[in-house]
Amino acid sequence: MTTTSTPSALVRALSDRVSGPVTTPSSDHYDTERTGLQLLGRHRPAVVVGATRTEDVRAAVSAAADHHLPVAVQASGHGTGLALDGGVLVTTGRLSGVRVNPARRTAWVEAGAPWGEVVRAAAEHGLAPLSGSAPGVGAVPYTLGGGVGLMARRYGFAADHVRSLELVTVDGRVRRVDAEHDPELFWALRGGGGSFGVVTGMEVGLVPVSRVHGGSLFFDAGPDILDAWHEWTRNAPEDLTCGMTVLVLPDVPGVPEALRGRHIAQVAAVWTGPLDQGPNVVAPLREAAPVLMDTMRDLPYAESGSIYAEPDHPHGYRSRTMLLSDLDPASVAELVDRTGPFLPFMSVVGLRHLGGALAREPETANAVGHRDAAYLIAVLTAAEDSDTPDRAALRAGAAALFADHVLGRSLNFSFGPLAPEEVREAFAPDDFARLARVKAAVDPGDLVRANHPIPPLA
Ligand SMILES: Cc1cc2nc3c(=O)[nH]c(=O)nc-3n(C[C@H](O)[C@H](O)[C@H](O)COP(=O)(O)OP(=O)(O)OC[C@H]3O[C@@H](n4cnc5c(N)ncnc54)[C@H](O)[C@@H]3O)c2cc1C
Repeated sequence: MTTTSTPSALVRALSDRVSGPVTTPSSDHYDTERTGLQLLGRHRPAVVVGATRTEDVRAAVSAAADHHLPVAVQASGHGTGLALDGGVLVTTGRLSGVRVNPARRTAWVEAGAPWGEVVRAAAEHGLAPLSGSAPGVGAVPYTLGGGVGLMARRYGFAADHVRSLELVTVDGRVRRVDAEHDPELFWALRGGGGSFGVVTGMEVGLVPVSRVHGGSLFFDAGPDILDAWHEWTRNAPEDLTCGMTVLVLPDVPGVPEALRGRHIAQVAAVWTGPLDQGPNVVAPLREAAPVLMDTMRDLPYAESGSIYAEPDHPHGYRSRTMLLSDLDPASVAELVDRTGPFLPFMSVVGLRHLGGALAREPETANAVGHRDAAYLIAVLTAAEDSDTPDRAALRAGAAALFADHVLGRSLNFSFGPLAPEEVREAFAPDDFARLARVKAAVDPGDLVRANHPIPPLA
């Protein structure tokens, strides 16, 4: 059941039990509390609980369950999908502690900690987490969705490195979940997304990396660099993890002068092998086409947010992602043409080279889907107010271009709501059924609404 009115008994109960702010649509801070990076399809909850501790989360989830209301969670709001209409939104931005245990090479990461904080804390001990391209993304939501990071081909998915999680389920229990305790939930939470309860924290393994060779090379988008990138990835060792982002940059101050107004291809790469070999590994790309800008260097992992240097201001966007068994360069060239300067709205084509350790099962299996994918391609469209048919058509056309090699979707890189059959495409059929059984066991009334929800098996 959903509601658009504020049940006053619920608000009263929450205000008594929660130490963080409890906000309703009539409050001044309601918009600030419910808004994250994604501006399209924001949640419209009846109540927002700004959690500051596990007990706040427990109070919010229990109160929602008592009132048969749906509950959703938001960390930094990069990945908002299905919007909550009524019900309780738990925001976790205030629950952002990170504790590193250097002896165990682990970190306890609270639900709202952004990767940047985990990277910073781990770097003090010469360690690094399996973080992604944007330091502002929440470590917990990213990891629940699998997590393809900057060193992914060397170390695998972020979800592969989770040791345990703390989770509040709709029965009001605070559960410590690991390989021994609630093993089915442990399997599901690592890659199956946020459908099973509200995670308050997780323990993740860290890797002994303090410096990498990394950064970006920028080129004019065109067949030379598209083909060279494809060839480069085909022979890449596991120590090389890279992606390519193709877009038309606006001709405005703030964009580096060398790139302003151009249709560019940004190749972002991280080399985790011996640092002195890094420049040689990247050399074939430099020879493929004139380099417009070059930020490749040896750098502390603490500065890894500069590798992709993605914009982190709130805006609206939708995407279509495809996990591919192989990449057809002609289809990439066609998609890049379709998203060129003549397009009346902003669009970004993003590619990630997968394989390597991503393809190997971790010691304790998890729900991550389509490990055998060789590439991820996403086409993203930006929109200020609402998605439009021409944007949707561009994304659908992209999907058709790559249909021959599609294995499925990526949960994490899917921006905007997915239909149930689309969520299903993120997993092998047996795994999707297993996720639905786990969901039915912990949340039979389907109160926890994830961005990309797993329905309880009827
Ligand atoms: C600029 C940018 C760069 C990105 N780079 C990468 C990348 O390199 N690799 C990668 O794998 N992904 C990447 N992503 C995708 C990103 O990992 C997901 O969108 C992720 O869900 C966003 O994290 P967030 O903190 O913004 O989550 P939010 O948008 O706040 O939450 C997303 C969903 O996660 C669930 N959730 C959040 N918190 C909890 C919780 N405590 N308990 C249970 N469920 C919860 C909810 O269902 C929620 O709707 C990127 C996204 C953007 C926009």
